[in-house]
Amino acid sequence: MQKKINDVFSSTSTSTSSTLTDPGTHSENLKNDESYSIIIDDSLDIGKFINTSIPIDDFTKCALLEKHWVPPPGYIYPFSIHIRQGKEIKRNVLPVHLQNNHWLVLSDCMKGLFCKYCVLFASNTSNNVTLQTLVKKPLKIFSKLTGKDSDLKRHCNNKYHKFAVESGNNFLAAYHNPQKVIINQINTQRSIQVSENRKRLVPIIETIIFCGRQNLALRGHRDDGFLDDDARPSNEGNFRELLMFRISAGDKTLENHIKTTSS
Ligand SMILES: [Zn+2]
Repeated sequence: MQKKINDVFSSTSTSTSSTLTDPGTHSENLKNDESYSIIIDDSLDIGKFINTSIPIDDFTKCALLEKHWVPPPGYIYPFSIHIRQGKEIKRNVLPVHLQNNHWLVLSDCMKGLFCKYCVLFASNTSNNVTLQTLVKKPLKIFSKLTGKDSDLKRHCNNKYHKFAVESGNNFLAAYHNPQKVIINQINTQRSIQVSENRKRLVPIIETIIFCGRQNLALRGHRDDGFLDDDARPSNEGNFRELLMFRISAGDKTLENHIKTTSS
């Protein structure tokens, strides 16, 4: 059987509002619903972010992944027309296609299907694979949306798609839990260390200032070696003696510093 497909794409709508089939009662009910404005907010239509050189910020990426525009009730889904055995047949995108493929989204402005993960993340993980349909341009031929050899199934099996989905999920996890990001954990540890080091310096600097105010010489005749060395001489000079005095008076920060420092 010879199949001849004539790819003719058609859509009856040009804007989101015009896709509502019943502008009467149904529309009024939707307007009374607070979520109505969210449902028809096509600013989260991924088609608007295709082939643009403007980088997409993280907030928008997150919104596109989690709250992508979905066709409202009454929406007329795009279709493609094919000629088979001399007859015209129409193939529609259906809600079930979107429901069965969590990664699949419909772009109203481009009247076609996209993989939201690949649009946002595949460019960095594609390994020179030429990305086209569902990524750089919409899928607008809707005759093979289901089955083993469907366009959607084949896209799912691509390595770059799997990497993109993984990258997207990692992105969402990091976006919602920034404290779990490794770089932030390292920075936190580093800031703790910086704070600890500053605390250690305080008693030493205060002692130097004290000696300066009292016109006391810092150095003594023997003022080298470890402070907690039992063999140290009886008088090590004002500075070191004052440090020992602070330790004996309960300065735990200084005591800890003297015991743990290596120089
Ligand atoms: Zn994909």
